[in-house]
Amino acid sequence: MIYFNQVSKIYPGNSVALNNVTFTVEPGEFLSVVGHSGAGKSTLLKMILAEDKPTEGTVFFESTNIHELSKHAIPLLRRRIGSVFQDFRLLPDKTAYENIAFTMEAAGRGDEEIASDVPYVLELVGLGNRLSSFPHELSGGERQRVAIARAIVNQPDLLIADEPTGNLDPINTHEIIQIFKKINDIGTTIILTTHNKGVIDDLGRRVITLENGRVARDDKKGRYVL
Ligand code: ADP
Repeated sequence: MIYFNQVSKIYPGNSVALNNVTFTVEPGEFLSVVGHSGAGKSTLLKMILAEDKPTEGTVFFESTNIHELSKHAIPLLRRRIGSVFQDFRLLPDKTAYENIAFTMEAAGRGDEEIASDVPYVLELVGLGNRLSSFPHELSGGERQRVAIARAIVNQPDLLIADEPTGNLDPINTHEIIQIFKKINDIGTTIILTTHNKGVIDDLGRRVITLENGRVARDDKKGRYVL
């Protein structure tokens, strides 16, 4: 589904963020990317979202070369990708329900679908009883669940999660990881970045370790070696 072919990214000032990175992510896989701060994890995700271009090499989403997409095709690519971030990025003046409904409206989904799908995804993340709560009324773990529900409501092919448990305590971290596993079991491909060894051990799935922009390890089953 995702193919990085000899991708390098050099930022102005000769900062090498990615150095000759090659890997493939198959449909249905759950890949974690680990590495110290500055190893290139965020840059790698930016390449997939077409937020930045490689200096060298190519990145494919299925048969599409992401960096040859025209300006108006990029939003169509992004619609196939759900994103979750460390800082949740919920709209503060909207309830859990409205945050998710807003994303569906932006994708052109109708009122009936919204009325049936928003409660469904909130139920899926264990927040079926918090539809009308505002972000400030929710704990960090609950906010991240709303953000995950929002990321999956338009049924993306790929879910990208950038340090999704970075602001959470161990119990909430474990619960969020269980939700990601459940979403992956339903068939969504997931790429997640983390600093957290516990997350990797909890997942027991494929791990790519980045060191100074290079793939230092690519382990089939959960190993965190830094
Ligand atoms: P990580 O997510 O693993 O912490 P990043 O991908 O953010 O790493 O950064 C990798 C390297 O690229 C770092 O050395 C960082 O300083 C550099 N870098 C990232 N973005 C930029 C940018 N926009 N301009 C210049 N250097 C950047």
